[in-house]
Amino acid sequence: MQFHTQMYQKLTYIWVMIPEKFISVFDMFKIAVGPSSSHTLGPWRAAQMCLKQVASYEGIDNIQSIQILLYGSLAKTGKGHGTDMAILMGLMGEDPIVTDTSLLITKIERIKATHELVLNNTYTIPFTYEKDIQFLKDKSLPHHPNAMQFLVQTILEQRIFTYYSIGGGFVEEGAYAPDAGGKVNAQDAGEKVNTRNIDAKVIEPAEVPFNFLTTDELVHWCMKTGFSISDVVRENEKANLTDTFIDAQLDTIWNVMQQCVFNGCKTEGILPGGLQVRRRAFDLNNKLLQNQSYTSIEEWSSLIKKGGHDFKYILDWVSCFALAVNEENASFGRVVTAPTNGAAGVIPAVLFYAILFCDKNNPNDIRRFLLTASAIGVLFKNGATISAAMGGCQAEIGVSAAMAAAALTELLGGNQKQALMAAEIAMEHHLGLTCDPVGGLVQIPCIERNTMGAIKAITAAQLALQSKPDFALVSLDKVIKTMWNTALDMNVKYKETADGGLAIQIPIALAEC
Ligand code: SF4
Repeated sequence: MQFHTQMYQKLTYIWVMIPEKFISVFDMFKIAVGPSSSHTLGPWRAAQMCLKQVASYEGIDNIQSIQILLYGSLAKTGKGHGTDMAILMGLMGEDPIVTDTSLLITKIERIKATHELVLNNTYTIPFTYEKDIQFLKDKSLPHHPNAMQFLVQTILEQRIFTYYSIGGGFVEEGAYAPDAGGKVNAQDAGEKVNTRNIDAKVIEPAEVPFNFLTTDELVHWCMKTGFSISDVVRENEKANLTDTFIDAQLDTIWNVMQQCVFNGCKTEGILPGGLQVRRRAFDLNNKLLQNQSYTSIEEWSSLIKKGGHDFKYILDWVSCFALAVNEENASFGRVVTAPTNGAAGVIPAVLFYAILFCDKNNPNDIRRFLLTASAIGVLFKNGATISAAMGGCQAEIGVSAAMAAAALTELLGGNQKQALMAAEIAMEHHLGLTCDPVGGLVQIPCIERNTMGAIKAITAAQLALQSKPDFALVSLDKVIKTMWNTALDMNVKYKETADGGLAIQIPIALAEC
């Protein structure tokens, strides 16, 4: 078994090192529904793609049946992560950006009760949940642990569509073929699909002025041009988009992030899934505000600012922001992948810290923060992974902390090398972090872990601001390489399978849902 795992990882290693298409800030930050970018958003998008492809061949009204096969990590933790729900929502034609998240459970229950699925909200096929979604926990496809297949029977033939959810909501399309008794070539998955929220073309690296795959290349452009990291990213985005569009989209991303924090702070109760985890942001928020009332985000923010700058007060708020996001995420709320759903609380928490406690509340500050953070995410995606199924939690919380640390450093006046040093420090102290979600739910240790990621990011930024990067022994490229090598060495039970770590220390019998 170990031998096969190593083989798979080697294959994957080769695949990851193939240069990506240009990765935009809008690939890195995507508006999504919780609880997981790889297990919820990716499968949701894959279902939409599948329907689109069938529509282009024969038309949706020729579909007679659809069966969904989930492999590897998607099978093992898919129920806790809402993979089944996400795929059904995608097949119904719902979009994660605009769907009414309060209706998700009702819609899924209706499918289970009626044994009918309304494709694209227009065409009904028979669908038996227990039979037509299969969680193949003992099987995996060789290309990536997060694999899924759609067996689509139309009037003419059966087609198999294979997709891989490779982390952060990114999806790769596998080979598809008529099922003529042969097998789908599951390794043939070179097609990278644009799953971003905006309708803009995917461009090649050669089309941007300052393409970079490594820290050295990013530093090269910064030194050559004098641009900050956020400037470099913006110039690259401008190869495809206007400044006005970029600003508007970044503002939308921040609005969703802050609304998510606000919602999480206002919502009390028990999180869904059966673990009986109590929401804590609500109580903490009320305690810190001494139960003062407010009606808007602006009023709430100003009350927080009036509380002062005591260290413990700030620490409590940073934790509260992160808890709020990930409690929303755990309850199928709307979040922004940053770079994943499980780690979605780190960046908003650190950005709120910058806005409320460091007076960085100018819209341009917020945009710069997001642009710089995305550059760090790109370095990790190109040089290692942002998928917990590939690299454990270092790939999620570790990467989000590195992104936030670099962005905060730039915002607080650090130079480019200091920002990159902050990212290195943040990841260095997340190396080896495993993914072991209890019950396969994105709750324990995930929610608290975002508070730790946020605080480490702030500490890393402060350390970098007080340091001289030219004397640092460990570069960001070296730590990215170390993270990837650690991912290769990590036992598969610590990679989003819920087969090891905390997941097996907490005896829990979750109801099938
Ligand atoms: S342990 Fe980390 S990587 Fe795993 S699901 Fe939770 S947040 Fe994501």
